[in-house]
Amino acid sequence: MAVYLDHNATTPLDLRVLEAMLPYLRDHHGNASSVHAYGRVARNAIDQAREQVAVLVNAQSSQVVFTGCGTEANNLALKGVAARLAAGRIAVSAVEHASLFGPARALERQGWIIDTVAVDDQCRVSMASLSEVLSHTPRIVSVMMANNETGTIQDIPAISAQARRVGAIMHTDAVQAAGKIPVDFPASGAHLMSLSAHKLYGPKGVGALIVDKSLELEPLLHGGGHEMGRRGGTENVAGIVGFGAAAELALNELAARSTHLYKLRDLLETGLRELSGVVIFAAQGCASAMGGRSRHPASRDTSASMHVAGRAGMAAERLPNTVLIGVPGIDGESLLMNLDRKGIAVSSGSACASGSGEPSHVLLAMGVDPDLARRVIRVSLGQGNTPEDVLRFTAVLREQIDYLQATARSAWNT
Ligand code: PLP
Repeated sequence: MAVYLDHNATTPLDLRVLEAMLPYLRDHHGNASSVHAYGRVARNAIDQAREQVAVLVNAQSSQVVFTGCGTEANNLALKGVAARLAAGRIAVSAVEHASLFGPARALERQGWIIDTVAVDDQCRVSMASLSEVLSHTPRIVSVMMANNETGTIQDIPAISAQARRVGAIMHTDAVQAAGKIPVDFPASGAHLMSLSAHKLYGPKGVGALIVDKSLELEPLLHGGGHEMGRRGGTENVAGIVGFGAAAELALNELAARSTHLYKLRDLLETGLRELSGVVIFAAQGCASAMGGRSRHPASRDTSASMHVAGRAGMAAERLPNTVLIGVPGIDGESLLMNLDRKGIAVSSGSACASGSGEPSHVLLAMGVDPDLARRVIRVSLGQGNTPEDVLRFTAVLREQIDYLQATARSAWNT
């Protein structure tokens, strides 16, 4: 029985989303820029999807720019803003996704200076570090809403307020947050927000950048005035329709999905608690230790008694589906491959960036010991998972840890 526990990498396409897309792959081939009836069908479908995506994040449809993926949205946010400004400083958190660091580094080659905002041991942005970095008056600030490896949720409204105070343009990468927790563009205080369809049961190859009305963006793709002049190229109608359908479902089902995920996460963490030495990153404390600050109605953390990595009593808010664990003494990649052989798909949480053997920049930024940071497995749960999946995972994990520990012991003794 195969068990897929890698939903932060990508989610399966919801069959209802597929149904919504099929007519635009099969029957309606019109170009949305054409004035005839075929074109109008495509245009209307895009308009509806734009509205559905806007509603998911409480934005206006005119603020939605469809892109080819979340990576493109992050690139458009940084490069599109920077192109209209004189080179200056960009502040980014130390735990951003590669699709954010990539365009930041590209701008560095054009004379921009990158300042990195530190995080604490729970992967939360350090407000002291933020203040320090903001004292250099960056023109752009980018902090992700939820981390893809640890699931840690940042206090974006507070960060945006600080960024705006120094006159910076604020961007947040909400690719992992949207569909898992409530996301509200105006309340976030950000000028720009990135989204991606395939993280919320939509198709791959479509994303969006939500853009504040006050902002002028230089397009990455110059062309025929598509997306109100902000992204040239004939629209991927079926993909955009799928994104819209996925967004609507995500919003309507957010509470039910979240309840399901929290139940599975509780079960998973109960199982992990029984495995000696296993560390759960960014899972410190419990909801009460956060002074009831929980942003989500269903948000709670039952991991108070677990062996967790971090400072006492300071819980991070985490996505309901993400559990990043470290297994001391076990090679993360070997564990990952052995789990795969047993039909269980998890990830190393980018523990080794592109096979380089380097531990994750996220864990290093959190101050995790580099040796432990190489011994990491990320479990990201999804709608299709069942309690049986979780129980199977913990059983196989236990078996594989025992096996790898025994192998390591016998290698040591020979
Ligand atoms: N931002 C975050 C936080 C992500 O996790 C990802 C994908 O893993 C992306 C951006 C990139 O999105 P896409 O795969 O649509 O390019």
